[in-house]
Amino acid sequence: MERPYWAPEGVDVEQPSAARVYDYCLGGSHNFPVDRAIAEEATRAMPEFPRVLRENRAFLRRAVRHLVGEGIDQLLDIGSGIPTVGNVHEVAQRANPHAIVVYVDIDPVAVAHSQEILAGNDRVAVVQADLRRPEEILADAQTRRLLDLSRPLGLLIVGMLHFLPDSDNPVGIVRRLGEKLASGSYLALSHASYDQPEGADVYNLASQTSTPMYFRSWQQIKELFDGFELIEPGLVHFPLWRPDSPADIGEHPERLAAFAGVGRK
Ligand code: SAM
Repeated sequence: MERPYWAPEGVDVEQPSAARVYDYCLGGSHNFPVDRAIAEEATRAMPEFPRVLRENRAFLRRAVRHLVGEGIDQLLDIGSGIPTVGNVHEVAQRANPHAIVVYVDIDPVAVAHSQEILAGNDRVAVVQADLRRPEEILADAQTRRLLDLSRPLGLLIVGMLHFLPDSDNPVGIVRRLGEKLASGSYLALSHASYDQPEGADVYNLASQTSTPMYFRSWQQIKELFDGFELIEPGLVHFPLWRPDSPADIGEHPERLAAFAGVGRK
């Protein structure tokens, strides 16, 4: 296919990516035919798939609003994806215009679009980096310019850790990041988890992207909060995490094959 004007040089337009599949399911326009094909196949295999992604995003927004309400004014969002309406910095800066956000993603399309959208907002930056090398994220010039690690911050690792296999030691990576944060910092995290047979189909589809997925159990996901104490209501299906109204919970939240929670250091 022809490279769209917004696709950075070097991006393989024939290789689907998680960031762009997610963008498509959220109604975004920064995706290629290969991404749309995977999204549609995943939806056929698991009709709840687009709802899982929408509810994940809704959790992220509620979690950010909660953290800013608790006085957190700096956020480090790792695996931030392609910006869509109601992004982390919009939600945070609506609640506190001085809030700072550093976005981090490994995907060059996600980073290029974030840069485009964020131009002119000097309290927000985007860094292209790999969560598997957390020290590089903290040492990055933009991170150091904007974030003050001696004060509490909100670490967001939402919809992301299921892209790391156990051999990458995700528990150890989160612990290494958590150790660098001031006490009173928060970790907001969500992670795919399936116990229904359709999950296996989505798993197989994800293996065809540049970012295969690794589903984990509730207990394994809880272990990612090492060093953080889960706040109410704990690690739950997305819609059950502090819904704005009981109507927002919808039907069968337990069918959304993922868990989300927020912990405090
Ligand atoms: N956090 C956003 C949300 O929940 O709405 C976006 C989640 S999106 C499903 C996952 C993102 O993680 C993708 O943009 C992908 O590029 C990014 N990602 C995957 N592996 C990564 C890694 N090792 N380091 C940094 N980002 C990564």
